[in-house]
Amino acid sequence: MRNRDSYAEPYRIKVIEPIRQKDRKTRELLIEQAHYNVFNLRAEDVYIDLLTDSGTSAMSANQWSGMMIGDESYAGCANFYNLQDALLEIIGYRYVVPTHQGRAAENILMTMFVSESQDVLGNMHFDTTEGHIKLRKANPVNLVIDEGMDPDIDHPFKGNINLERLEEELKKSDPSTIPLIIITTTSNTNGGQPVSMNNMRSASELAKKYNRPIFIDAARFAENCYFIKQRDERYKNKSIREIAREFFSYADGCTMSSKKDALVNIGGFLAFKDKEEWYERAVQIQICYEGFRTYGGLAGRDLEALARGLYEGTEEDYLEDRIGQVHYLGSNLIEAGVPIMKPIGGHGVFVDGQRFLPHIERANLPGQSLAIELYKEAGIRCIELGTCAFGYKDPKTGEEIYPPQELVRLAIPRRAYTDRHMDVIVNAFKAINERKENIKGLKMVYQAEIMRHFTARFEMIK
Ligand SMILES: *Cc1c(COP(=O)(O)O)cnc(C)c1O
Repeated sequence: MRNRDSYAEPYRIKVIEPIRQKDRKTRELLIEQAHYNVFNLRAEDVYIDLLTDSGTSAMSANQWSGMMIGDESYAGCANFYNLQDALLEIIGYRYVVPTHQGRAAENILMTMFVSESQDVLGNMHFDTTEGHIKLRKANPVNLVIDEGMDPDIDHPFKGNINLERLEEELKKSDPSTIPLIIITTTSNTNGGQPVSMNNMRSASELAKKYNRPIFIDAARFAENCYFIKQRDERYKNKSIREIAREFFSYADGCTMSSKKDALVNIGGFLAFKDKEEWYERAVQIQICYEGFRTYGGLAGRDLEALARGLYEGTEEDYLEDRIGQVHYLGSNLIEAGVPIMKPIGGHGVFVDGQRFLPHIERANLPGQSLAIELYKEAGIRCIELGTCAFGYKDPKTGEEIYPPQELVRLAIPRRAYTDRHMDVIVNAFKAINERKENIKGLKMVYQAEIMRHFTARFEMIK
């Protein structure tokens, strides 16, 4: 990776959005009123918002000007054809089904392929993907390599699927039990970790051998391709788009949340490499849930911003800066002694909340406590991905079941913050580190039955 001191953000700022840091007393009051749940905060009370990298990108002058030529015709708008051209050029797929966001594309895909009690295999399914599989009473099966689950192992492609286990599953079942394989790029759930070209190719060969469709969840495909360029010698002289075309050639189609690597605030799509009959089936479902084939739940202007965003999101200097900024934050946190998941991923830094606050018992929510302290310390908002998000009460015993890790995710919005903001984050961690013995943890005093972290309420342990 090029030394970040030798270059700066590859853009200058034309339009700004003011953000303000409220004073500490006010922040303490606001977070108490929010019942110590960052989802209850108003965005205007947040100084640096690291809740998600989804839909939070800054669009370029080129994208905004594209919005002015949105063609709002019901059928056949010009922007749809621009999107079609962009996808053919960047990933080599012929058929595109626009949707209002990524999960809507998943809905169409699952409706087409998945039914009750089947197993959908993947490296690591994203949570909305899991949701759609379970809605159809089918089972999401995660087959990521063992290294992918160990936060300390420095493996270059921790998003890889375990090929032996994949073949085992395919071998022991007939096509009626496994309708689909999905490779998620990058793998968000274990820290934004990439999938290698070799792994994708081999997974594709197995899919062919056993005659099953294989799809890519492409939300962060450009970041994945950048990691391939960096970490696989054979690709260092290839362009991101050359890498992307090869990578996508190994799948039959993809779903995409364009709120990530396509640098727009809303939108998604389902795309197919060449199977026209699949495309026609998808359009039937699209028309019922999303809209006519050439707009699918989006305005013409949204389609234009998306088409342009796909080109910008696969430019080398943009990706170098993007991944470089996340790396800058991560390596400065390591230097400050903050325990994070390694290697540093593509879209954010994942902090081990339990190791940062070792004196707080799991039951007193070290991850959530760290998230709350970051808000109190500097007005930073991030998300706990530990006990609150993935733990649950055993329905029989009422006992709390803990997930393997107690992570706090600092997701970095694309092109939105500068390295100065990253410095403030690192300094906040240093300040909390100094006074961490006084942090006593939280207890959950209200939880809903599903997705409890969105609406849970907490109290401070005094
Ligand atoms: C965000 C995301 C989705 C869902 O997309 P939405 O646009 O939020 O509906 C699916 N898969 C992955 C990997 C994602 O990051």
